[in-house]
Amino acid sequence: MLATEPPMATLGEEEMDRPLKTRHLFSVLLALGVMTATPAAGPLWAKTYCERLYESARKDYYALLDSDRKQRFHDNWDKVIDKFAAIVDQYPECPRAPDSLFNAGVLYRKLYRKSWVKKDLESALNSFKELNRQYPKNKLADDALLAAAQIQEELGDRGAAYITYSDLVKRYPKGDMAGEARQKIKLLAAYAPRRSPRPAKRSGSAAVRVTDIKYWSNPDYTRVVVYGTGRFEYSANQLRGDSATGKPPRMYIDLDGAVVPQDLCSPITISDGLLLRTRMGQYDRDTVRLVLDIDSIEDHRVFTMENPSRLVVDVIGKQGKFTGTSSRDAETGRESPLPLAQQLGLGVRTIVLDPGHGGKDPGAIGPGGLKEKDVTLALARRLKPLLEDKGYQILMTRDSDTYVELDARTAFANKQRADLFISIHTNASRSRSVRGVETYFLGVARDREASETALLENAISEQTLADLDLILLDLARTSNLKQSSVLAESIQDNLYRGLANRHSRVRNNGVKQAAFYVLIGAQMPAVLVETSFISNPESEKLLSSQEYRDLISDSIFRGIIHYIQRLASVSSRDEES
Ligand SMILES: [Zn+2]
Repeated sequence: MLATEPPMATLGEEEMDRPLKTRHLFSVLLALGVMTATPAAGPLWAKTYCERLYESARKDYYALLDSDRKQRFHDNWDKVIDKFAAIVDQYPECPRAPDSLFNAGVLYRKLYRKSWVKKDLESALNSFKELNRQYPKNKLADDALLAAAQIQEELGDRGAAYITYSDLVKRYPKGDMAGEARQKIKLLAAYAPRRSPRPAKRSGSAAVRVTDIKYWSNPDYTRVVVYGTGRFEYSANQLRGDSATGKPPRMYIDLDGAVVPQDLCSPITISDGLLLRTRMGQYDRDTVRLVLDIDSIEDHRVFTMENPSRLVVDVIGKQGKFTGTSSRDAETGRESPLPLAQQLGLGVRTIVLDPGHGGKDPGAIGPGGLKEKDVTLALARRLKPLLEDKGYQILMTRDSDTYVELDARTAFANKQRADLFISIHTNASRSRSVRGVETYFLGVARDREASETALLENAISEQTLADLDLILLDLARTSNLKQSSVLAESIQDNLYRGLANRHSRVRNNGVKQAAFYVLIGAQMPAVLVETSFISNPESEKLLSSQEYRDLISDSIFRGIIHYIQRLASVSSRDEES
């Protein structure tokens, strides 16, 4: 994804930092043909003023990109983006307006790399689209279109990306972006809008045979998987609902060169709020059509995976919904297997404790100078023997003041085949009055606070995630997600009650979801506990006291044990039935 950033060189760095000569600017404006209706005196004044605004915004832009610290807060991004937006609003004819839109797009895109809030990426898309719409003749117009297409791809809308790339090549055939767009069009050929059925590519013995179809309803999305004897080639399309015929909106995916046995063709009712049902059938001699009748979805993604070969359709709801895990084998209607530990009735044996930060990364620092990395280590060290006394094997991602990469922490837990992963942190806010405890599991942030906490915790990572799909695949470890939410609930509940017993001012901020690097890729239930706000002077004082630390460790301990006991009772009930 980094490789697909729009070329910053097109912004003309030197040109940006040096105020343009008035005359030169005016001739540029005339050349652009955007000023013909404006009186001469106005624009000259406006342009100078606009130029000053632009310089100021660019200064803030660089200051933000230079400072990891500033990048941790949503507000800092908003402020710079707003400055650029104000230029476009107030001086749409100023030659800096398109540059401003471009910079806003770049900023939103970078922000998304930190926040993983999809809305930020969509805002980037809108900025680039708007640039192209308002200033189709600007030198950045084709750059903007390329960026828009890349984002559409990233958002999973490859059909739209195909159309945007095609539009770029058609309208700017000689521009410096056309080459890349042409390559993309070739790569995305399968997503071209279809006019007529394609000639058969595979048939008879070469055809891929559909062997099964299953679905999983998850808290945040529903996944439908079609299994086959080989790699599927497919094209996805959407149809609007038709109130006249009562047909719901639907999505259909054609599997080219595929055949499906009759016994897999009966409709499967899902009715989980996202999808009504799925249907599959032999559309023509060598095309299998999968139809999803949609109840209400926000977005979808289609991709193929191998070993075994399968086509995966994820549909995502407007907001998270908790339907409980109903993971059913679509064919038989039986419940799919529980996580292995539960199946075997083994429950939990190994727990990885992950004291946040360490070494060169102090984490958040309180107003009195207390460092998060020291608190988290103390809490984990205290928690460890409590759990060991209960017979669990406890491993720590660090047991000294050392720096450990975020991805190395999860990798360690995976390698040790740990059953639980508990990351321990203290929270921070720029507002010193903010206080309370909250527990996270992996997901899409629902509110500003959650995404800000993720920004804060993710900031130190030197790892950049290559691809949004990767995150989604990890989110798709369905049992982990559900179990993680149960674990988070148990810890949050015990932690809040444990602290509130003795400290009446403790606030319960609840269980939340956000895209924490440190939780991504964990192959076991994984949570991140924000034990208190170190940025709150009163909480900071408490966090440095042994009594409060013990209280936190004891409460997290009780939360973990409560979760494990519940797990055990679920699996023993299963054995009885
Ligand atoms: Zn932290």
